[in-house]
Amino acid sequence: ASLVTVLFHLGEMATATQSLDEDTFAALGAELGYRIEIVSPEDEDKELLEDFGLDLEAELAAETDDDLEARPPVVTVMGHVDHGKTRLLDAIRKADVVSGEAGGITQHIGAYQVRREHEGTTRAITFIDTPGHEAFTAMRARGARVTDVAILVVAADDGVMPQTIEALNHAQAANVPIVVAVNKIDKEGANPGKIRQQLTEYNLVAEEYGGETIFVDVSATKGLNIQELLDAVLLTADAGLDLRANPNKDARGVAVEAHLDRGRGPVATVLVQSGTLRVGDAIVAGTAYGRVRAMFNEYDELVEEALPARPVMVIGLTSVPRAGDSFLVADDDRTARQIAEKREAADRAASLAKRRKRISLEDLTKAIEEGKVDTLNLIIKGDVSGAVEALEDALLAIDVGDSVDLRVIHRGVGAVTQNDVNLATVDNAIIIGFNVRPAERVQELADREGVDMRFYSVIYRALEDVEAALKGMLKPEY
Ligand code: GDP
Repeated sequence: ASLVTVLFHLGEMATATQSLDEDTFAALGAELGYRIEIVSPEDEDKELLEDFGLDLEAELAAETDDDLEARPPVVTVMGHVDHGKTRLLDAIRKADVVSGEAGGITQHIGAYQVRREHEGTTRAITFIDTPGHEAFTAMRARGARVTDVAILVVAADDGVMPQTIEALNHAQAANVPIVVAVNKIDKEGANPGKIRQQLTEYNLVAEEYGGETIFVDVSATKGLNIQELLDAVLLTADAGLDLRANPNKDARGVAVEAHLDRGRGPVATVLVQSGTLRVGDAIVAGTAYGRVRAMFNEYDELVEEALPARPVMVIGLTSVPRAGDSFLVADDDRTARQIAEKREAADRAASLAKRRKRISLEDLTKAIEEGKVDTLNLIIKGDVSGAVEALEDALLAIDVGDSVDLRVIHRGVGAVTQNDVNLATVDNAIIIGFNVRPAERVQELADREGVDMRFYSVIYRALEDVEAALKGMLKPEY
């Protein structure tokens, strides 16, 4: 409560449970005689790399015009479900001038490059092969900036839909220019003019209406105007973006997809953003490391090196990185391993810190006393619906006094799932399982997120625990 008072004197009205922004924290620190520094995970990783003599920002800043060479744009396709993102990616893949002769792109590796004759030269464009803004957002959440241009697909027979708006919001928030593909113009009832009209509301004004956004009417299934769409991407990229990178250094980039292959072990598709990646390089991607044993392109051909904006599937990592993890080439195997291990340790520390913030039955009473919680959120899972209902009724009937509000935010029949844990993370809830166990890998997730999960096969034991926790008498579990 005293912090709240100090804040009040600083002109900030806050409650004890409220989160504060960085400026307020700094002001609060100054008032109390401390200098408060907020270290983001990105900054932390930056410092970690600096300990190995790697300062990626300084490296980029030191590059001169002589070092930089043109690179292809990297494109993500976004839009509402069923508006044709997947079909459009297929159509673009087929439109590649080079693969047209060689038999076509055969492998889905998570990204591919096509070439287009454009104003007298052959230009390459890289496409991220996972449609939708979820992948885009997941990568951004890890600090990866991958996409140069977004293609927003809108079906002409359906119009602007919720995910259309979500996608364009994401692209605009990331300052990524948008090309609109008005799809399904082959369909009866298609109204491409209406799409242009609708999108003006979102600051996407078509060139023909005096705006700056290129709209291309296409049909993904009929392969109509795909070349024009590629031209629009190149025009948009050339208009506002400086797409250059230094190919003459160790590679740096992002993992766009990764999985465990039965025969080949961990397999990751990485997108080189600068430098050149070569077979034999020691690399580290997130907390995975290894040596590039072999690289494949989207034609399933072995390649020896990969230049900026080129996606390649890499074999030789010792574990599977996450999509959006950045990767870099280190001086040697040992350095790569050490960076990975340090990151692993930092991740653990961060997840411990995160865990402390979540509520558990054990710390409930203290939290209530300190005024930190006034609601206990519960998620109930059970083997049969009768049991779930009975448990819910019984729990809600507990006399909790007026110190705290007991709420069941979700209930269901079946094992505890990842979704339940995610919900518990967001709403700071405790999960009660009755005659069920967590689904595979769910316990791991709960541990990582610090979610308290408890399992019972007798209803009154569950009641006892919750009641005891509310009264501050729960014995710690060992
Ligand atoms: P996504 O969910 O955005 O990836 O959409 P899909 O690419 O899976 O397409 C959804 C449906 O729309 C599929 O049945 C496609 O065959 C259909 N579709 C996609 N593009 C076109 C098009 O240009 N014309 C027509 N008539 N149908 C299309």
